[in-house]
Amino acid sequence: MSEKIKTNILELLTELPEGVMLVTVAKSRSPEEIIQAVEAGVKIIGENYIQEAERVHAIVGNRVKWHFIGHLQKNKVKRAVVCFDMIETVDSVEIAREIENRCRQINKVMPVLVEVNSGRETQKSGVPPEDVEKVIREIAALANIKVEGLMTVGPLFDQAEQSRPSFAATRQLFERIKKLRIQNVDMRYLSMGMTGNYHIAIEEGANVVRIGTRIFGERVK
Ligand SMILES: *Cc1c(COP(=O)(O)O)cnc(C)c1O
Repeated sequence: MSEKIKTNILELLTELPEGVMLVTVAKSRSPEEIIQAVEAGVKIIGENYIQEAERVHAIVGNRVKWHFIGHLQKNKVKRAVVCFDMIETVDSVEIAREIENRCRQINKVMPVLVEVNSGRETQKSGVPPEDVEKVIREIAALANIKVEGLMTVGPLFDQAEQSRPSFAATRQLFERIKKLRIQNVDMRYLSMGMTGNYHIAIEEGANVVRIGTRIFGERVK
């Protein structure tokens, strides 16, 4: 078995500043690769697809935390709330209500992040920045969901530096909402940055980074 994954993870964990959490993004990776990552010491796995997550979750189990980072469809929520410890991509009150209902049925409180469409891109999911406060206030009323911060992908560019404005704007929004001290909302996590731009995201205040390629290599699928 190749040691490459382990080496990449150890390098990355050394490099990340204290207080920055690594979400190891497992989309399209084999269970073997993911197990290697877990054995190298990663604590959180990020998955974009429910079916893929269930398959790997069955093997890896609760040795690690599971974050959902894909686009969540209403008809998948029932399954998502079973295997995930956090849903980072809540982008509407409607999907939050579905999470609420499904979590109530299994007696669980789901930590969530609200996904921000920080670049206001028409084709991207996420709440437009100007609507985030309103959406959070509505979700805050739901007993089986706990808002714990914001997540953004941001527009993707060739140059990482170009991501800075959307990260900086998301940080400002995060701080502003934190100051509101909304009941049942605990603004702790700011999830931004992937392989190409996590350095910039950390400089702009991210304390969760979601990284796949830097760990596992280029995706073939
Ligand atoms: C795929 C993905 C990542 C990781 O991307 P890499 O460039 O492979 O590090 C992070 N966040 C989300 C939402 C993703 O879909």
